[in-house]
Amino acid sequence: MKWYSHEAETILQELDTSRIHGLSEAQAQQRLAEFGPNELAKEEREPAWKMLLKSFKEPLIIILLIAIGLALASAAYDFFVSGDSGHAMASVYEAIAIVLIVIINSGLTFHQTRTAQKSLDALSDMRQHYMKILRDNNWTSVAANHLVPGDIVSVKSGDFIEGDLRWLKTSELQINESHLTGESDAIQKNTVSLPEDTELADRTNMGYSGSMVVNGNGIGVVVATGMATELGKISGLMQQVDDQKTPIEKSVHGLSKKLMIIAAVIIAVTIGYDLVKQLIQVGSISMDSFGGISATAIAIAVASIPDAMPVVLSTVLTIGAKMMASQKGLVKSLSSVETLGSTTYIASDKTGTLTKNEMAVTRFLANGQVYNVEGNGYTPIGDFIRDDGTPSDSKDYQRFLEVAVLNNEAEIKPDTKQNWRPFGNPTDVSLVVLGAKDNVKRDVLLEDKGDRDIDIVRILPFDSTRKMMTVVIKENGRYYSLTKGAPDVIKPLTKSALIDGQPVPIASVAANIEKTMLAFAKDALRTISITQREICKEDALNASSAELERELTFLGLVGIIDPPREEVKASVRKLTQASVNVVMITGDHAMTAKAIAKQLGIIDSDDARVITGRDLEEMDDQQLADVVLDTRVYARVTPEHKQRIIKQLQAHEQVVGMTGDGINDAPALKAADIGIAMGINGTEVTKDAADLILLDDKFTTIEKSVESGRTIFANILNFMRHELTTNVAEVLSLLLGVFLITSSIGNITEVTPTLTALMVLWVNMISDSLPSFALGYDEAESDVMQQRPRDTKQSILANGMLRRVLFRGGVMGAMVFLAFIWAASQGYTVAQSQTIAFLTLVFGQLWHVYDARSVNTLFDRNPFSNSRLTLAVGFAATSSILVTLMPFFNNVMGTAPLTMTMYVLIILISAVPTFVISGIKKFMGRNRTESVAVTQAN
Ligand code: ADP
Ligand code: MG
Repeated sequence: MKWYSHEAETILQELDTSRIHGLSEAQAQQRLAEFGPNELAKEEREPAWKMLLKSFKEPLIIILLIAIGLALASAAYDFFVSGDSGHAMASVYEAIAIVLIVIINSGLTFHQTRTAQKSLDALSDMRQHYMKILRDNNWTSVAANHLVPGDIVSVKSGDFIEGDLRWLKTSELQINESHLTGESDAIQKNTVSLPEDTELADRTNMGYSGSMVVNGNGIGVVVATGMATELGKISGLMQQVDDQKTPIEKSVHGLSKKLMIIAAVIIAVTIGYDLVKQLIQVGSISMDSFGGISATAIAIAVASIPDAMPVVLSTVLTIGAKMMASQKGLVKSLSSVETLGSTTYIASDKTGTLTKNEMAVTRFLANGQVYNVEGNGYTPIGDFIRDDGTPSDSKDYQRFLEVAVLNNEAEIKPDTKQNWRPFGNPTDVSLVVLGAKDNVKRDVLLEDKGDRDIDIVRILPFDSTRKMMTVVIKENGRYYSLTKGAPDVIKPLTKSALIDGQPVPIASVAANIEKTMLAFAKDALRTISITQREICKEDALNASSAELERELTFLGLVGIIDPPREEVKASVRKLTQASVNVVMITGDHAMTAKAIAKQLGIIDSDDARVITGRDLEEMDDQQLADVVLDTRVYARVTPEHKQRIIKQLQAHEQVVGMTGDGINDAPALKAADIGIAMGINGTEVTKDAADLILLDDKFTTIEKSVESGRTIFANILNFMRHELTTNVAEVLSLLLGVFLITSSIGNITEVTPTLTALMVLWVNMISDSLPSFALGYDEAESDVMQQRPRDTKQSILANGMLRRVLFRGGVMGAMVFLAFIWAASQGYTVAQSQTIAFLTLVFGQLWHVYDARSVNTLFDRNPFSNSRLTLAVGFAATSSILVTLMPFFNNVMGTAPLTMTMYVLIILISAVPTFVISGIKKFMGRNRTESVAVTQAN
């Protein structure tokens, strides 16, 4: 059906719906079943088996497949050539064991990836767009995908249009539908039927899915949803968003690659060295020594490939995203988790984010007199007391109050308990309450009465660039345009003022208005001037906002209190301690801004610089760059200014988080490193453009998200430290065996590896990776918010990480090797010697994990504060001992039971390096900080 060519009534009938009641819930359910959800079809997600197969392409898996191949070849050789069937079976078991471990590890990895994917999906479900729709006589907000044909929807500036609509009512409604038409200017919409051959771009009575409402508001009826919309017709299949790698994931992948190359070189050199040595010493290579050499090579390969890192990393980031969401900070991508931790500037809107948005008029100026307003909250009770104590006369402010409530779309309603609740723009609500205190109410004014007849003609809503709102009314046959807005914006547009019912030239009262306005602003009040102007019918119907908003007659000025949120002060302090700069950005007057900034601790003196929108206009980029790092308050700015501020901060290599609420803020949110939107009061467009959505609209949530971001990053460093250290230890213990053992010692020969390949595999996949995952769940090391933000350009290995990894890994590797040599020289069997080395390694790591957990030392954190870690370590320790005791594992892993004393000894001795190194560091660290303190004191 060509919806645009029919009258609204026909369409409503056709869709069996009502403009007054909307659809019934039952009808809606039935239509949802019939037409399906209002969504574009998505590409199928990769099936599970494909994801599983993919994990087999990992280099480690390939190495293991080679190992399996070799084990089977060796079994075949033993069976058919040497006839040693016992040895052959051992090789077969070994192959089976490798397969088992690979399956278990792939399963674990797969499970982790799936869980991570699921929690990400759950998070993205929380980001659904919402729409206001009429059902069963009630306006409610529903998720956009529940929309069905026939639904009556209401949209306003900042909304997305979900589904195709035919407009039923529009008020200054302008829509950007560039995604369909390529036309970047907003299109004015109306409700007039059009000829059948009208092109899509000219269908001014229709709204199309995916468009943005940039101005005004409207009511429409849904005619198509999902794939039946114009957007659905052209979009085809929506591509699943690619899982973008975060910067840290990229650098870890880069690091893995480098390590892989190093591993390949080490393996090649080892094999070459062994082969040459054999050839020189024996003249040929026996099958036995070939077996030994390849076993060592495989063990080194397994030891050196950092296979767990990418999985643990994405898991840790997902844990972070979940953690943030549970604290009301919803991030859109994993990279935001990381960026939040390195944020250096947070630029926040004032109104509603730093303040409560519970506005109340406390003072006003009318007829040349200043009044103080009594009363509490939204309850419309309270007297107006003149500043000079003389009795107040309601005639003096009658017109001022009428205009304040007529140029207004907000309401207050008593809920059941005679408790008044606000609806609409908080600034406007405060004016409604003010009017009601003197019994001036919009609906009463608009009622048809014989003597006085007022009708609303047009509404030009408030926008933060104009900083004004205008309503055109028809009053007893005459037309008036009522304008209210920021006093300094209104001032040059004003021609006269109403004094005692008569217009007087503005010059005679301007000084008083200015003085009063500054006094209000100094008291942290938000100020608004109220004006009117008589206009002709032609202008009333068609004039633009610029044509209407001039030659105004001043009626009065209000001062609105908007108390700061109590908890913000503590958050500002915490962020400042964490070297994150908090900046206030507001459309309010510079004085108001400064007063609130001071109350919140964003600035600490009255001399702090405030940059206004006008200052910004006059500054060039260089001038702004010179002051941007030290400026904490920007006032009377428009959304366009925000982008400049971000750009200059970024030019100083700062990582900027920026909040925004209106549709015009979307570009700034995109430009910021972290765009932040309000979940409750934010528009759908800003939420869509944001990286972080504050589900509770609270500034404190930003601070918590920064803290989570830092915690996550610290946890990532901890597990990297652990993984890398153990990798170094494993490789080193094997290499020392290859290069330092040149002749037989006791039962071991020069080709016996320090550890069997399966021992290394066990260490990597069980005793090493489980505690690593657990590190991802760690709480913040108490002082993450005392530190400076991370330098994003620095490598993960910077700040002594590499040194620490090499040193500790080196000591651990040497210890494992020494244990092996010692056991051999004591006459232990090969299996026993390797088992001693194996357990020394396992326990060395399990002790070390507690050291890796802290940027400082083992002694700086409560070892039992992470119960997952305790569990993982407990499990790794027990199971590692069990595999030395159970005959099956003795067979496949090459382990052997030891004596009780031996177990105890290994557990204790393997603790020594960690405790000694950590202890020395703690001691020296204390000295160092002391000497720093001394130099600073000097
Ligand atoms: P912010 O969101 O930082 O408080 P706004 O853009 O909302 O800034 O407001 C800027 C100025 O515009 C206010 O100081 C006030 O003077 C004026 N103003 C705000 N809301 C309205 C409104 N609903 N009608 C008229 N003027 C308004
Ligand atoms: Mg605002």
